[in-house]
Amino acid sequence: KKKLEPRKFTKNPILGTKFTIAVSSAKGGVGKSTFATNLALALKQIGCKVGLLDADIYGPSIPKMFDINEKPKSDGQTLTPITKYDIQCMSIGFLADQQTPMIWRGPMVTSAIKTFTQKVGWKDLDFIIVDMPPGTGDTQLTFSQEIKMDGAIIVSTPQEVALLDVKRGIKMFDKLGVKILGLVDNMSYFTGDDGKKYKIFGEGGVKRTAEEFEKEFLGEIPINPEVGKCGDEGKPIVEANPEHEISKIYLDFARKIK
Ligand code: ADP
Repeated sequence: KKKLEPRKFTKNPILGTKFTIAVSSAKGGVGKSTFATNLALALKQIGCKVGLLDADIYGPSIPKMFDINEKPKSDGQTLTPITKYDIQCMSIGFLADQQTPMIWRGPMVTSAIKTFTQKVGWKDLDFIIVDMPPGTGDTQLTFSQEIKMDGAIIVSTPQEVALLDVKRGIKMFDKLGVKILGLVDNMSYFTGDDGKKYKIFGEGGVKRTAEEFEKEFLGEIPINPEVGKCGDEGKPIVEANPEHEISKIYLDFARKIK
């Protein structure tokens, strides 16, 4: 009797793009979607053609952050991404009502991810930025095992609870053979009216974690109310105000990635 062999996965590239980069966070609410959208827009500003794939099936954010309310067209085979701010976008949120929860088991999530990576007509892109759901579950597994990923960026806030999850996230990508491009420290400090920097969530934790695991530390993004306001209004800060100090930080990230 033939011995059972471990299942082999074939890694398919997403067609229509040169590079695919995941933006990941092990915890929710640390600013991962904010980072993914602004990085996409910053890459566009420095001359790249960019797509944005919202892989967060249970909690899609792109429709709100880009203020997109239309449904993508389909010819029965391929879904056409919706282009806004010159970025080609796809999200499960375009297909379902904003307030309808996706009450799905894992295999359906995997199937949605396959549709988004294989049946979307992405065109002539340099980068697809994938906004991953938080955690280390089905979506991360599908992307890491079955899709050719060129790298992952991990976003975190500096709190200890978040860092614990970051360590799990790093180990997951290492184990699955996805190159970690670096770690980003979001909401690292707040500058008060007195000009002083207040380190609300602690200091240097993300950088220390990067050093501990020998990963690159890409930099910090301070807390700025303008970031949240722009996201809520459907026009991320890099698009709304490219001269803003936060936008300049994003442009630096984009140059590092390019
Ligand atoms: P995640 O994708 O990790 O769940 P989001 O990107 O949705 O997190 O961000 C959570 C909230 O924090 C949003 O309201 C967003 O506008 C806000 N936010 C993210 N980064 C910053 C920042 N640097 N300064 C201020 N608010 C931020």
